[in-house]
Amino acid sequence: MNSIAENSKPLTAQITLPRAAAFVEWLVDHWRDKGVEIRHVEPERVQMVLAEVGMVELQVAGARKLGCAVQTVTLQMGELMQLSLTEHLGEFADEMDWPDGSWNIVWNGQSPRSPAQLHVMNVISNHALTPQMRRVRLQCDDLGAFANAGLHVRMLLPAPGHEPAWPTLTDDGRLQWPPGKPRMARRTYTIRDIDEAASWIDIDVLLHADGDGASPGSVWAENAQPGSSVGVLSPASGLLPRAAHYVLMADACALPAAARMAQMLPADHTTSLLLWVANDAERAAFDVLPTLVQPDWICAGAPGASSPEIARVLDWLARQNYHRPDTVLWVAGGLPLTQAVRRWLADQPALPSVRKMIHTYWR
Ligand SMILES: Cc1cc2nc3c(=O)[nH]c(=O)nc-3n(C[C@H](O)[C@H](O)[C@H](O)COP(=O)(O)OP(=O)(O)OC[C@H]3O[C@@H](n4cnc5c(N)ncnc54)[C@H](O)[C@@H]3O)c2cc1C
Repeated sequence: MNSIAENSKPLTAQITLPRAAAFVEWLVDHWRDKGVEIRHVEPERVQMVLAEVGMVELQVAGARKLGCAVQTVTLQMGELMQLSLTEHLGEFADEMDWPDGSWNIVWNGQSPRSPAQLHVMNVISNHALTPQMRRVRLQCDDLGAFANAGLHVRMLLPAPGHEPAWPTLTDDGRLQWPPGKPRMARRTYTIRDIDEAASWIDIDVLLHADGDGASPGSVWAENAQPGSSVGVLSPASGLLPRAAHYVLMADACALPAAARMAQMLPADHTTSLLLWVANDAERAAFDVLPTLVQPDWICAGAPGASSPEIARVLDWLARQNYHRPDTVLWVAGGLPLTQAVRRWLADQPALPSVRKMIHTYWR
């Protein structure tokens, strides 16, 4: 991890909520899957170390109280972490069905200076890049908060046939939903492309099989009509640190992130990229100039469906020069992919000069 911002004092907060320990457990599980290093300092005190970002410490101070300290590599990252923590609290509160006002977070004098904003955007167009990948172009008149801020956004998705009932955002970043209206589903997507002057962003969404859930993200992308609206929270996270060499691996839902990164990588680097999609037709979703990067492909089955594909992924990784100094190894996609890579890496010699960023996008 880069060093924590010089002279920076931790940002501290008190969180009041119905079930303090349960939230810590949930966040630990959630972030562990995203590659966050978890340190249990004491039974009721846990530190979560996010590569290139910093550390969040949570301490259970009672059944309904948590102490929180955030220390990050830059002050801007600190603000993003404050907002991210609030967003995660909101998500957990939704999962628990807690009523509005049942939790709050009070920062000690340092509320984020630039609180997240909710942008209501209009769908301009929606077309199929491939049989499984939709490109949805969204219009927003003020994209100032989007340029250079981060790659990923949380989206509030209206259900088909329902008028959206937008929440408001409180100063400390909480979403407040209008009483008596259904809350919209929230999902994370990558800004695949942005044109600030022309006021649009593109989001590429994978249409995936139902799994065992209602898949509001996939359903929204399949049905979003020009003229309809969607909520987008200010972007955060996802930028790759500078390195001499990048080894990138993604399954279909992380292909948009891999494509955006390929376009943003510094000129003086080398890159190996593996993309794992369902079949040859899906390769067209990677519309990046071959002069920037030429991916290797696995075009077979649903990601994680069977062990032969996982074996091919690991075989590819073993053949890369991933252990050379100043390398970033970035892996993103479903749990079957990220779990397999993590387990495989655990059996390899330690790699102190390799920054590993392994992010689970769905499970
Ligand atoms: C940082 C980040 C960036 C992301 N960027 C993108 C992006 O640009 N484009 C994109 O399409 N997705 C992206 N994702 C993944 C996306 O948020 C998830 O796939 C999300 O779960 C999809 O929501 P859903 O409502 O369609 O399905 P959910 O309701 O979340 O899941 C329903 C069922 O479908 C299964 N499922 C969910 N996603 C997939 C999948 N991709 N493949 C197979 N089965 C799945 C689940 O296991 C579950 O059983 C990103 C995720 C993260 C964390």
